[in-house]
Amino acid sequence: MTAHTTDVAIVGGSTAGLRAAEAVVRHAPELSVTVISDEPHLPYELPPLSKTALDDRLDVDALVYPFAGSLRDRGVDFRLNTRAQSLDTKSNTVLLPDGTLSYRALVIATGCEAIVPPLFAGRFHVHALRRFEDATALRAAVADPGASVAIVGAGFIGGEFASTLVKAKRTVSLIDLAAKPLGRFGDQVADAYAALHRDAGVGLFLGSGVVDVVERNGRRSVVLDDGTRVPADVIVVGVGVRPSVDWLRSSGLTFDNGILADATLRAADNVFVAGDVVRWPNARFGTTMRIEHWTSAAEQGRAAGANAVRLISGSKGENFANVPYFWSDQHGVRIQFAGCLTGDEEIVESRTADGRLFLYHRGESVAGVLAFERRAEFVKLRALLRRELSLRTASEFIPSVRSNSGA
Ligand SMILES: Cc1cc2nc3c(=O)[nH]c(=O)nc-3n(C[C@H](O)[C@H](O)[C@H](O)COP(=O)(O)OP(=O)(O)OC[C@H]3O[C@@H](n4cnc5c(N)ncnc54)[C@H](O)[C@@H]3O)c2cc1C
Repeated sequence: MTAHTTDVAIVGGSTAGLRAAEAVVRHAPELSVTVISDEPHLPYELPPLSKTALDDRLDVDALVYPFAGSLRDRGVDFRLNTRAQSLDTKSNTVLLPDGTLSYRALVIATGCEAIVPPLFAGRFHVHALRRFEDATALRAAVADPGASVAIVGAGFIGGEFASTLVKAKRTVSLIDLAAKPLGRFGDQVADAYAALHRDAGVGLFLGSGVVDVVERNGRRSVVLDDGTRVPADVIVVGVGVRPSVDWLRSSGLTFDNGILADATLRAADNVFVAGDVVRWPNARFGTTMRIEHWTSAAEQGRAAGANAVRLISGSKGENFANVPYFWSDQHGVRIQFAGCLTGDEEIVESRTADGRLFLYHRGESVAGVLAFERRAEFVKLRALLRRELSLRTASEFIPSVRSNSGA
């Protein structure tokens, strides 16, 4: 067992962890930084894992963020294949398999892991898609053009992989318990999303749960709750993720669907949290939230890294607030959302030949915008959402608006 020390320890070497390291190096190059990652690779991009065409080789070196190599050259110590075992916030120490790492400031960026329901857990040919190795295993499984693929969960990752498979002329089905996929964005969006998949040739089974997996004559099917059998030589489970916090059970941190942090992303003395794993009060929307999207992970990583430096230099941490944002590419259509919905918004829709745009508002106040294409307008509205945005101002940017209520 060895005892190491570092100025800033970062646990989790993906988007948020990398941006935290980058922020520390930028603000205080004299500080030592150690990144603990249980993966064998330097930080790499996850979004291409569901979007890259099946014909294109998935190359982890091409996915590694170029800046990761520069940081390593500048002295950031990336400890790969190393899983943090536990955290002692009293002694400022992370327990590693081969010893301890003591820090002056810690950034936790352990993200999320895929949920695999018990029906599917441990079954051969059942895949989740969260890490590079998941993606290579999945692509090997669907290499046979005759293999049917059933994707359980019609969210963004399931939808993107369905789109990638259809492009490669595979037989693919999307199954979801919800009758309205992406229903939290309202019925119009759910219907547009379903139509996008249906028109592209995806078999849609909505409002249906999988109750069994059966095999006959070497072919596999999933059985739905209404008895329907859906061809499923390969099964992809995309039913959501959960925060990776098991290693923190004895840490004394507060968990509430993620690690609870304050407005500066601080969860305990000398401990900051960033990315998919943090729940924090976002002052822009006056509510506490956890976000599972790339841009927030990067932004929070930078903010947590900067606050780690401020802590060490004895200055006050800065609050972090943002406008949650995501994009998703499916069947050649870019879907984007910015904002924060509570579910009781009214919706104003604009439909043009270029795509569809949905404004969510409570009274005069715009809470979010979702677009199928319509990229230029979306960019403007997303920028305007950084501040309180009135429906009247937002509408000036959108031709042919149509009002519907109930998000
Ligand atoms: C296939 C796919 C496609 C996506 N596409 C989009 C998209 O189009 N748009 C979008 O906005 N978002 C997208 N996302 C979401 C986005 O990639 C995530 O929000 C982002 O990666 C979160 O970054 P993170 O650093 O917080 O966590 P993660 O990326 O989950 O990284 C956490 C890291 O910590 C490691 N770790 C966990 N526990 C430990 C431990 N105890 N010790 C050491 N290391 C540990 C994990 O192995 C992992 O490397 C996609 C995600 C996936 C999986």
